[in-house]
Amino acid sequence: MKNLELDKSLLTHAFVEPRKTKLFGSQEVVSGKGIKIKLSDGRELIDGLSGLWNINVGHGKHEMAEAAHKQMKKLPFYPSAFEYTTEPPIKLAQKLIKILPRKSGISKFTFGLTGSDANETAFRLARMYHTIRGESKRIKIISRKYSYHGFTKAALGATRIPLYHLWEQPDPSLYLEVSPYDLDELEDLIIKEGPKTISIFIVEPIMANGGVHIPPKNYLKEAQKICNKYGILMVFDEVITAFGRTGKWFCMEHYDCYPDFISLSKGLTSGYLPLSVTGISSKIWEEIEDKIPPGLIFANALTTSNHATSCAVALANIELIENENLVENSRQQGKYFLSQLKAKFKKNSMVKEIRGLGLMAGINWKNNRDAPENYMGRKKILANRVYANEYSINFVSECLKRGLIVRPVGPNTVVAPPLCTTKKEVDEIVAIMVESSKHT
Ligand code: PLP
Repeated sequence: MKNLELDKSLLTHAFVEPRKTKLFGSQEVVSGKGIKIKLSDGRELIDGLSGLWNINVGHGKHEMAEAAHKQMKKLPFYPSAFEYTTEPPIKLAQKLIKILPRKSGISKFTFGLTGSDANETAFRLARMYHTIRGESKRIKIISRKYSYHGFTKAALGATRIPLYHLWEQPDPSLYLEVSPYDLDELEDLIIKEGPKTISIFIVEPIMANGGVHIPPKNYLKEAQKICNKYGILMVFDEVITAFGRTGKWFCMEHYDCYPDFISLSKGLTSGYLPLSVTGISSKIWEEIEDKIPPGLIFANALTTSNHATSCAVALANIELIENENLVENSRQQGKYFLSQLKAKFKKNSMVKEIRGLGLMAGINWKNNRDAPENYMGRKKILANRVYANEYSINFVSECLKRGLIVRPVGPNTVVAPPLCTTKKEVDEIVAIMVESSKHT
C-alpha cells in the first residue's frame, strides 16, 4: 500500500473530521527548505503557518541535524529525575538566562516535551508554592476566553475554546474563565470565588490560536497588579510568541511585564525535536527550595525531562536565530507584512480588522453567517463545521490552490511564516492572499 492509503487506515488527524480523512486522506510532506515544503506529488507550498506556529528557523537546516547527530553519538539521553545530569540542558539553561530579559528574574528551568506539559508544570509548581506557604486551598486556575494552552488534562482545563472540550469537560469549579481584556471582570471573579482559592492566572501575551489578538498596551501590567494584590501567581504562555515570533526574543519584552512562570516550546527547537521548558522566577523557586518540608520532593518527572539531544538541538536552534539575525528579520518583515496586508486589503469590504506583531498576523473577516460567539461555540459544533467561518474556510482553500498554507480560526485567518521569510517572499505571500480574496 502507498503511504497515503496507509495513513488513512493507520493514523489520526486531530483537527480534521474523521469522515473527511477517511474519504479524502491527507497530503504527504516529504521535504522542506526555507519557507517552503514539498509534497509527495511534487507540489511546493509556502508554509504560511510555520508548521503549527513552530518552525521559526525554517525548513531544512542541517545545523540542527548535525547537533542531534553529534549528541546522539556521544550520549542521546540519560534521565535526570534522580541525581544525574547531562551537559546540554545545563548549557541550554545558561543560554536561556542570557537571552531572557534580566528583569524577568526567571532563573530555574525544567525541560519537558510539549507546550501542554510546560503549562502543567507551572500549575503544579504554583500549588507547591502556595501549599508550602500555608495556602493549600489555592487550587483554582483562571484563564481567558478563547485562549489555548494545550490538550493534556489541566492544560485543556485552562484552554477556553469550547470545541476542544467536546470529549473531556474541565471541572468548572477548578477552571475559571474571564473575558480577554476585562480587568474589572477579572477582579470581580477573584473576589466572588474567594482570592485565597485562586492559584494562578495564565495568559498568552498575544492570543495566537484565538486569531492573533494584540492586547491593549497596559493590559498585562494591570492584570499583574490585580494578581499581586490577591497573591495569585501569573504564567505567561509564550509557547508561540517566544524566540523571535513577535520581533523580540520574548513577547513579554513588548509589555515590560514579567511573570512568575514562563512556558516555552515550539520555537525552542523550531519543531526539529520535541522540547518544552517551564521557566521559574527565582522568587518562587527560592521559597520552594528553602521552605519545602524535609522528605517532600518536586514530584514532576517525565521520563525524558531535560532530554540531552533535544536540548542540544535547541542550542543549535538558538544559535541559528542569532547568527541569521532572525529576531530582527521578524520585526522588520513583520512590520512590512502588516503594512502590506493593511494597504492591499483596505478596500476589501469583507475585512473587519487586520492585526499583527512580528511575523504573526490575523485577518478578522466580517461574519458572513453566524454571530461571532457561535464560531467557537457549540452551535458550530452541531452544525458540524470546524471552528471557523465559511468565508475564512473558503479564503484559506483559495490560498492553498495558489500554493500558500494559512489557517482559519473563528472569524479569522492566521498567517505566521518562518522567521527567515524575505521581503520578496512577503510580497509573494501577500500577492497570493490578494488574488485568493478575489476568488473567495
Ligand atoms: N500554549 C500555546 C499558546 C499553544 O499555542 C500551544 C499549542 O499550539 C500549546 C500551549 C500546547 O503545546 P503542545 O501542542 O506542544 O502541547
